[in-house]
Amino acid sequence: MEHLETVYCSRCKKGVQYHYDPVNHWKELLVTIFTFGMWLPMWLCMVFGPTKMCNECNGPLWDDA
Ligand SMILES: [Zn+2]
Repeated sequence: MEHLETVYCSRCKKGVQYHYDPVNHWKELLVTIFTFGMWLPMWLCMVFGPTKMCNECNGPLWDDA
């Protein structure tokens, strides 16, 4: 899903449009199994708090105040 509003990207040093990275549940399931469940909280974070991804450098955009 594309958004028209822009968010400042610290890598691109400018406001950029962003998208949400779709969660690959099969990959996360495998990682969770291989880490004996240690990865589960990270997986849940991705599902309930999706990270904005920069449309230009594809890096994560963290919301800083
Ligand atoms: Zn960027």
